[in-house]
Amino acid sequence: MRYISTRGGAPALTFEQAMMTGLATDGGLYVPETVPTLAHDQIAAMAGQSYEQIAFTVMRPFIGDTFTDDEFRAMIDRAYAGFGHDARAPLVQLAPNHFLLELFHGPTLAFKDFAMQLIGQMFQAALTRSGERITIVGATSGDTGSAAIEAFRGLDNVDVFILFPHGRVSEVQRRQMTTPVETNVHALAMDGDFDDCQAMLKDMFNDTSFRDGVRLAGVNSINWGRVLAQVVYYFSSAVSLGAPHREISFTVPTGNFGDIFAGYIAKQMGLPIADLVVATNQNDILHRTLETGTYTKEGVTPSISPSMDIQVSSNFERALFYAYGGDGAAVAAQMDDLKSGGFKISQGAYQYLRDTFTSGRASEEETSAAIKTYLAKHGELLCPHSAVGVHVAEDHLGATPMITLATAHPAKFPDAVNAATGIKPPLPPRMADLYDRDERVTRVANDFDAIATLIKERIAL
Ligand SMILES: *Cc1c(COP(=O)(O)O)cnc(C)c1O
Repeated sequence: MRYISTRGGAPALTFEQAMMTGLATDGGLYVPETVPTLAHDQIAAMAGQSYEQIAFTVMRPFIGDTFTDDEFRAMIDRAYAGFGHDARAPLVQLAPNHFLLELFHGPTLAFKDFAMQLIGQMFQAALTRSGERITIVGATSGDTGSAAIEAFRGLDNVDVFILFPHGRVSEVQRRQMTTPVETNVHALAMDGDFDDCQAMLKDMFNDTSFRDGVRLAGVNSINWGRVLAQVVYYFSSAVSLGAPHREISFTVPTGNFGDIFAGYIAKQMGLPIADLVVATNQNDILHRTLETGTYTKEGVTPSISPSMDIQVSSNFERALFYAYGGDGAAVAAQMDDLKSGGFKISQGAYQYLRDTFTSGRASEEETSAAIKTYLAKHGELLCPHSAVGVHVAEDHLGATPMITLATAHPAKFPDAVNAATGIKPPLPPRMADLYDRDERVTRVANDFDAIATLIKERIAL
């Protein structure tokens, strides 16, 4: 199994190389040369299996000979052992034909744990083998940073630095980043907003001497390993509702197009998915693009579902690659146009996207109303991202069972939930002392040289 760039101008890599590299040298994203398929019988056999068994079957064809079967099984087991629910991704019924896939039972209470916990295991195995030591730097609006810290804390050959915008993450998110005691964890509160943090990260990757000097590695949502881990729960949930013997639809709250793209891969692999519904908040670039065929950047307006407040949806490039029939040059041309503000998708590619995805958006009022209604009518307390999902899903309910992805635990966004319902959702018992733990954080200015110096000093220790 080899991986190629969506822009067609970078060398093909193995799974291990694609995972450790992240972004391709031509600026593109890695995708598998061909998407492996699972036979009807193989999918049917998943009925009643554990999440870990299904994970092995789904991901094994993608990893080539990077790990042996035994190694890979052991990594999967370790990755999900710390989850607070034996089913890992349990399904809850909301209405006769509407189900909620709870993806928030991992250590940081958001779906990013599914990918990050496994990435932590895979990085560690690869680094132990090569004897290398790396520095992971991530920028976060909250959930990615805590998930990365949780995955890499205490590992021998990794230092993890997370840049988050000072004063702009929720208290739970901040505490999850600042309370781990391991000395390889470094939480950096930067002056500025999330876009400033991302720009700083980009500058670090573009500075060759810094990048090579500290052996910089990234685990942001374009990393193929993360997308792959997210394919699994589409299979586990659909099979528990009767796939492959019947079709299932999914609604996915998304901003960066990572989670919904994993659903697209599941469908390519042979899972009978009817609709893939993209649900956005008021920052609706994906919904507008699917409605109009034109992708135009606008400013981000902060919302109560902050993990989807995104202007440039990085994983959308992967969908474009398939829409253009694998024509890397066409994707590269569109991405060039994006630098000057936007691009128009060609007629054929647009038709492909329309046939593959549908979409909807939820305003702030609709999101709050959904949190309130779903508590009153369905007994479910939803986080604001999941509320965006169920609101959009309602327009697509029909004869086919609909699964809406619940991407975070309501206790991670207590203010929005409290404003909508008057209830302050408690943290699960296993992390109830989060508010009592000591915090350790370094405040940094939005200054490349200062941050680069700090990182070099810390890893020299
Ligand atoms: C990251 C995140 C999302 C959006 O995920 P995408 O990668 O953009 O699909 C949605 N909800 C929560 C809680 C998140 O942390």
